[in-house]
Amino acid sequence: MKFGGTSVADPAAIERLIGIVRRQTVSGARSAPVVVVSALAGVTDALVAITQLAEEGEADRAAAALRALVDRHVEVATAVTSGSRARLVDEVTREFDELAGLVHALAVLREVSPRSRDAVLASGEIVSSRIVAAAFNDCGVRASWVDARTVLVTDAEHTAAAPDMDETRARAIAALAPLGEDGTVAVLGGFIGATPAGITSTLGRGGSDYSAAIFGASLDADEIQIWTDVDGMLTADPRIVPQPRLVPRLSFAEASELAYFGAKVLHPSTILPAVTKNIPVRILNSRRPENAGTMIASNGAPASGQLTAIACKRDVTVIDITSTRMLMAHGFLRRLFEVFERFRTAVDVVTTSEVSVSVTVDDTRRLDAILDNLHHFAEASCEREMAIICAVGENLRSDPMLFGRAVTALDSIPLRLVSQAASRRNITFVLRDADVPHAMMRLHETFFR
Ligand code: ADP
Ligand code: ASP
Ligand code: MG
Repeated sequence: MKFGGTSVADPAAIERLIGIVRRQTVSGARSAPVVVVSALAGVTDALVAITQLAEEGEADRAAAALRALVDRHVEVATAVTSGSRARLVDEVTREFDELAGLVHALAVLREVSPRSRDAVLASGEIVSSRIVAAAFNDCGVRASWVDARTVLVTDAEHTAAAPDMDETRARAIAALAPLGEDGTVAVLGGFIGATPAGITSTLGRGGSDYSAAIFGASLDADEIQIWTDVDGMLTADPRIVPQPRLVPRLSFAEASELAYFGAKVLHPSTILPAVTKNIPVRILNSRRPENAGTMIASNGAPASGQLTAIACKRDVTVIDITSTRMLMAHGFLRRLFEVFERFRTAVDVVTTSEVSVSVTVDDTRRLDAILDNLHHFAEASCEREMAIICAVGENLRSDPMLFGRAVTALDSIPLRLVSQAASRRNITFVLRDADVPHAMMRLHETFFR
């Protein structure tokens, strides 16, 4: 059971969380659940801001921002505990004291490496999970805090580390399974892990969902539950389309596409561990725990002649690569993609024509180097402030009319690239970022009203 930032935001949220977990603990499950929590709402962003202040050498401002975080955590810790209050407050304060020392050192150096950044950001999940574990015990739910860094083993790709599934599975079975069998709720921070050498790492922003799936798969859980602040996967991003509808059932493949193309409710890697063990993933609202939420499993909803949902990924860059001489000569595409590989930049959408290849990327940190290298054998130009809209549905495979309806819905909105993936489970449109709200509304109106 994974609880996101808003589901642990304050004492009231933590009380709701305890109620939800308590009901599942007594409902006759074969073992107690494992609980994975995010940092309290807004804390990871605050820690990112603190690393920025450190980089600018603003030691005092960084320290002040950190003190505000200490106060907030001590206040929440005090409110949700009784018997273990003194010990918890002590633990929380000690964690932040250590962090203050680290932040001060970084501010003196004015340098935050990816590794240091992970050490700073991990504090959010370390303290939130300690608070939740103590709160459980004081409310009569037997729980044990487990340092996620001793279980989730990752590579050293700091800020976007990948799990070592075999090692993590072995450790999860050793550390977590006995707790569950004994009826004790294991509580861990999401998002964080450690390298084999024990250096703190993180899975990338939004990574607590992924942690939950990694632990769930490692323990052959019956279900992986993602508790959040919306009713489930919605037909569109509610921040862009007002009042989207709930999608009650999704296939793993549909959920992966939506998560990858911007449905923030699920970290894009969450589905991977679930698929390998065929474990259903459920998205649930911690404010309305009685609702059924969204069920994600190997097969989605029965055919309905409809799309399942639409998602969008904003602020991407389109790169057009043209070579009149070389294009489509064998080896050209290999050479082209080798450039992206060398600079470790993922390509999202690809389209080709007789004389050009267009790709989109959202990580532009190495864009200049990529363009320089492409120029060795082709002309290349890029266009920023673009976006991807992805319409997803298993029904796209069987109903050719859906594609036409989607294009018609977009009417006069200029489309830069259009592609239908080989899986035929999605249609992808690349367009100007400024056109996204309008385009999303048009599509949503057409398919979901
Ligand atoms: P948590 O802190 O629980 O991990 P997130 O903020 O990461 O929560 O994800 C939940 C948010 O994702 C929702 O509040 C919503 O604004 C956003 N979101 C974007 N697209 C979708 C979608 N298709 N369905 C549901 N929520 C979405
Ligand atoms: N706290 C982390 C973040 O904000 C991880 C998560 O919430 O999933 O990115
Ligand atoms: Mg999230």
